[in-house]
Amino acid sequence: MSADLRPETILAQAGGAMDSETGAIVPPIHISTTYLRDPDNQYRKGFAYGRADNATVRQTEAVLASLEGAADCLLFSSGMAAATSLFLALSRPAHVVAPRVMYWGLRNWLLHGAPSHGLSATLVDASSLDEIAAAVRPGETKLIWVETPANPLWTITDIRGAAEIAHAAGASLAVDSTVATPILSRPLAEGADVVMHSATKYLNGHSDVIAGALAFAAKDSLYDRARGIRSHHGAILGPMEASLLMRGLRTLHLRVRSQCAAAMTIAQHFAKHPQIEEVLYPGLESHPGYAVAARQMRGGFGGMLSIRVKGGEKTAIATAANVSVWKRATSLGGVESLIEHRASVEGEGSPCPPDLLRLSVGIEAVEDLIADLERALASAVSK
Ligand SMILES: *Cc1c(COP(=O)(O)O)cnc(C)c1O
Repeated sequence: MSADLRPETILAQAGGAMDSETGAIVPPIHISTTYLRDPDNQYRKGFAYGRADNATVRQTEAVLASLEGAADCLLFSSGMAAATSLFLALSRPAHVVAPRVMYWGLRNWLLHGAPSHGLSATLVDASSLDEIAAAVRPGETKLIWVETPANPLWTITDIRGAAEIAHAAGASLAVDSTVATPILSRPLAEGADVVMHSATKYLNGHSDVIAGALAFAAKDSLYDRARGIRSHHGAILGPMEASLLMRGLRTLHLRVRSQCAAAMTIAQHFAKHPQIEEVLYPGLESHPGYAVAARQMRGGFGGMLSIRVKGGEKTAIATAANVSVWKRATSLGGVESLIEHRASVEGEGSPCPPDLLRLSVGIEAVEDLIADLERALASAVSK
C-alpha cells in the first residue's frame, strides 16, 4: 500500500495483503515450514525455513512497521519473548536503565533472570528525566527501557527527553508502547530506537492470541541480532496466530478510540466519588504525567486506569469480588472489560498500592460498566 495512507486505511485493509493467485480479499495463511530451493540451490523468494521467517508473519509485521513508522518489525511468540530478545541482543556485559513502575514480569526478569546473561539493571522513577540521566553510566549503559503509560500507575515518561539522554550516552532507547498502541503514540517519531508491544493486548484485542512485537527505527546491528535470536531461540510467532493478530488489527483504531472515550468517562465519574481515594489516569489533569501525555499522545490517553478504593486492600478485593459485567482476570486491551487487584498479582517488591484495582476498559456500554462498579463498591462497603 502507498506509504502516505493513514493508519485507519492501512489497518482496515490489512496493509493491502491480498492473494494474487485467487484474488482473495483475505490473504491465505502460509503454514508451510519449508520452501522449495531454486534449481541453482538459491532461495530467491526469501523464505527457507519457518523458524526464521514466514509470509503470514511478514504481512502482519509490514502493517505494524508502517503504523510505527519503522524500518522493520519482528513478531515474536509473546511480548516477553520480544522484550527479552532485545535485551539479549545487546552486546554484553551491558548495563540497562528501566522503570521501577513497569510490567512486573519483565521487571522480575531484569532483576532475577537477566544478571546470569551479563545484564545488570538500575530501576528508576522514569517519570523523572533527571533520575534516568543520573542512572546512566556512559560506556556501560547500552539501553534505556521505558514503558509509557506504565503499569499499573500509568506513569508517563517523556520519550523525547529519554531518547536524548540515551543517545548522548551512546545507548539506545526502547519503549514498551503496549498500552499507548500505535494509534495514540509513535515513539520512533519522538526519537526512540525500538518500540515493543505485547501484541497479546490491544493489537490483537480479542484475548485469544499471545504475541509480541519489536519495531525498529533502523535495520541496524541491534535489529540483526534480535532477528538472529528469534530464529536461534525459536521465538517466532506462528502463522495461525499471525493471521488472528492481523484480523484483530483491522479494527484496532475503532477499539482504541472507543476504549479511550470510555476510560475517560469512567475516570471522571469516579474521580470525586466518596468511596474512591484516587483515580489514576493520565487523561486527568490531576495525574502527574498529564502534561507530557497530552503532548506525546494523540487522540486519547488510553483505555487503562486504576482506582484506589477507600477502606484499603480488603475493600478493594471485595469490590472486585462483587462485579458482574467486569471480569476478574489478568491481561488487558481486549474488547471485554477486566478488573484486577494488582498487588496480589505482583507480590513483593511491587510499587503497586494494596488498595488499587486495575481496570482494562473494553468496548461495552460505558453506562453498564459504571453501574456495575457502583453496585460492587456499594456492596463491598456494606459487608
Ligand atoms: C502483557 C504485557 C507484557 C508481556 O507480554 P506477553 O505477551 O504477556 O508476554 C509486557 N508489557 C506490558 C505493558 C504488558 O501489558
